Amino acid sequence: MPRSSLADLTLADLEALLARWGCNPANAVRIMRSFYRCRELPGSLPKGLAERLERELPGGSTSLAQRRVSADGTVKLLLRLADGRAVESVLMPDYRADRAAGCLSSQVGCALGCGFCATGRSGFERDLTAGEMVEQYRALRRQAAALGRRVQTAVFMGMGEPLLNLEAVLAAIRRLTEPSLDVLGCRQIMVSTAGIVPGIHALFDSGLPVKLAVSLHAPDDETRARLLPPARRYPLLDILAAAGRFQARNRRTVTVQYCLLKGVNDSPEHARRLAALLRGRQMHVNLLRYSSTGAPYEASDDAAQERFLAELAARGVVAHARRQRGADIDAACGQLRARP
Ligand code: SF4
Repeated sequence: MPRSSLADLTLADLEALLARWGCNPANAVRIMRSFYRCRELPGSLPKGLAERLERELPGGSTSLAQRRVSADGTVKLLLRLADGRAVESVLMPDYRADRAAGCLSSQVGCALGCGFCATGRSGFERDLTAGEMVEQYRALRRQAAALGRRVQTAVFMGMGEPLLNLEAVLAAIRRLTEPSLDVLGCRQIMVSTAGIVPGIHALFDSGLPVKLAVSLHAPDDETRARLLPPARRYPLLDILAAAGRFQARNRRTVTVQYCLLKGVNDSPEHARRLAALLRGRQMHVNLLRYSSTGAPYEASDDAAQERFLAELAARGVVAHARRQRGADIDAACGQLRARP
């Protein structure tokens, strides 16, 4: 994909470009800070530089195709890419009035085909570039700014499996966490995986101290294989071993995502088995409420969720039920894109 925007460049790339143009590379930091803050280029740049940047790096690799706002404040964007494809990004307001979390996509579609996921059912189209992920961050930052908030955290939990597009995801993270730009720190970024074991090890090898979430959704391999096809390749114990290694080095608790599905994985016995699986691992369970995607699943009711939480708590597992966000605006990943 041709470079069309500052989002496609690292700070070092821009410094080298400015040097080639005969400009002082020290201007690169000011240019990139303005870019990541979604502001105009500084007026004090050397004569003609702003015009040349706009001419040679005009941007426009993404444009806003649709925006939906939930009654709970969640903002869901459909961003059109330069090749006409579309991805979703979501802004979730924090309980603190000045903060929000951004959810970024890493691929157009997804090859993993999880049965309960609208993105999975739509198939895989292509990987996103690092620049397209940076542009999602900027689109969310603009939305947040309009609400008087800043994007405090970013999660790679949108469309796609980030560990199957790891090189670009790592490049995006490095750009967003460039220290001299003061955008985000690694601790403010979470990468969420459906359990791609080699990818978890590769993320470990990157040395980036980001947070990690693993989607288990079942306490045994058989149930899991029905929900997440990659489970057939990566057994739960291997996923937890890889995640545990990551946790031990990063000293940040790994989050276990578990979407409660009525009659599938939400019984007290499932909870007891999940607790046994997590014994001694000090991971944190996030119970997710299923948003209907047209798949033959139903969300568990409140009573089942409470029983599940109680079983985990009784066995010393820290768990929380995450509030459902954006239920009125097709909250689940891939739903907005799937709409005609
Ligand atoms: S849940 Fe995640 S990994 Fe599974 S199909 Fe959907 S986007 Fe892909």
